[in-house]
Order: sequence, then C-alpha cells, then structure tokens
Amino acid sequence: MQLSDAEIREILIRRKREKQRRLRRRRRRMFIILLLLIVLVFVLVKVIGHGGKKSAEDKKSAGAAASGETRGIIFIDPGHGGMDSGSDDDNDRYEKDDTLKLGLAVRNQLETLGFKVVMSRTEDEMVDRTERGLMANKADAQLFVSIHRNKADSGGQGVEGFIPKENDKESRLLGENIMHFLGRAGFKERTIRAGTLVDPDDDYEENAAAEMPSVLIEVGFLSSDDDNYRFDKYLDKNAKAIADAINYTFMQLHDPDAAAEYAKMMTQTDEVLETALTATGEALSGLNAIQSRAADGTIEGIDPEA
Ligand SMILES: [Zn+2]
Repeated sequence: MQLSDAEIREILIRRKREKQRRLRRRRRRMFIILLLLIVLVFVLVKVIGHGGKKSAEDKKSAGAAASGETRGIIFIDPGHGGMDSGSDDDNDRYEKDDTLKLGLAVRNQLETLGFKVVMSRTEDEMVDRTERGLMANKADAQLFVSIHRNKADSGGQGVEGFIPKENDKESRLLGENIMHFLGRAGFKERTIRAGTLVDPDDDYEENAAAEMPSVLIEVGFLSSDDDNYRFDKYLDKNAKAIADAINYTFMQLHDPDAAAEYAKMMTQTDEVLETALTATGEALSGLNAIQSRAADGTIEGIDPEA
C-alpha cells in the first residue's frame, strides 16, 4: 500500500500531537508529585516544630504577646535630656546619655518579662520634670522609675534613691528593691530617702506629679571611676537587676504568692553561692596551711621551694 504525501503528513502530525500530549501528562504528574512533596515537608516541619515540649511560661508569654496582653504597665524615665545634660565629668560624659542608655536597656528587660513599658523619652530631648510624672499618670502606669546618676565633689560611691516626701511604703519597697538588686549586681548600697537631697519636706517634681509608687534612683556616681566602670561594663546586668527589682516589687504588690516563690528561689541561689564560696575559701586556707607546714618542714616529702 502506498501512502500519499498528505497521508504521511497526517500521520506525522498525529504522532507529534500524541507525543506532546504524553509529555504534558508526564509534566502534570511531576507537578502533582512535587506539590505533594512540598506539602509533606511543610507538615513535617510543623509537626517537628511543635513536638518539643514547651513550658507553661513559654505558652503564657507567647499567648500574652499574641493577644497583646501585658502583666502591667511600667513607666521608665531616663533623667534629664536635651539642653539639660545633668551631671558631667571632665571627659564629656553626661548624665543624660547614661540615663538614656540604661533606660532603654531596662525597657528591653522589662518587655521580656511581659510588661508594657512607657518612656518619658527615647532620644536626647528635653522633657519637663513635672510632665514626666503626668505622662506616667496618663499612661496608667503602675510603677514609676526615674533613672539618674549621682555626683559628689569627693568620694561618693554607690546607689541611692529618692521617694515622695509622704514616704509611702510602696515607693519605699520599690526603691529598696532596686537598690538591693543593684547591690547584688555589685554596686555599693547607700540609702533610700523621702523628699529631696536638701529637704525631706520637699519633693522632686517627678515624684510630686506621679500618682503611682515612684522613685528617682541614682545608679552610681558619675564622679566615681569605679561606678562608671561598673555602669559601662555591666550595663545589661545592671538593667536586668533594675528590671528584676521592678518585677519583684510588682509581684509583692499584686501577687504575694508569686513574690514569696520568687524570694525563695533567690535565697536558694544565694545559699548555693554562699556554699560554693565557703567551700572555695576552706579549700584555699587548707592549701595555705599545707604550704606553710611544708615551708616549716613539718610535712615531709613536700619541697617548700617547689
Ligand atoms: Zn539627675
């Protein structure tokens, strides 16, 4: 049988179409398999990601973050700012910069603890002192902490604070806690005073305006090299100390059971440290005794010159 040219062309075209159809079908199959693989990988990642057991605390803070819930509102006031540079030293170190640096670090720490933080300033700007207290009232803040640094003509060192002249016990608790926690972080502890530096019957404007427990805390002396070194080198540790103190105060005022639990945990940590320090001390004095006895020649076999 002889095929005409037209018939041959017809056959060739049909074959070509057949081939194209097969190719399309294969491509579609490949696409579906690929899609299934992607879905499988996605599901696996999800399953593994949620496989790890999360603590109740994680879930709580994740939930709080997702829903915008907060444990409470804290007002952080970095002292001075703008034209008011506060104290300074001979090396162009200004109180307003130190207070802002520490204030921002405290905010970060408080936020990780689940608090909402409102600040009087987050940059180098002038804010009226009474206005700072009023801002805290407007923000419905539950605690007010104003951060400052001290200065003395000679010899001053450590942390002190000023609370309202009424000397209310909540403000005192807040001030004492911050001072003690900074003390644990290595600062010398001084005193928490009601009123101002010069007059116990007067108030700093921030304390007078703020309607919640409040304190002006002086985080070391700008005039002390030791304090400045501690302030700079351990900025985050200091910020954490202040945030932990605020957290502890907040618990004492709003959740005494949680505060008691927290205090127990702190005491245990202190006891472990104390025990470790005592053991190290005893080991060292034991070693000293052995060395001195060896030097006396009362222990044979140990060469005092070794
Ligand atoms: Zn100041």
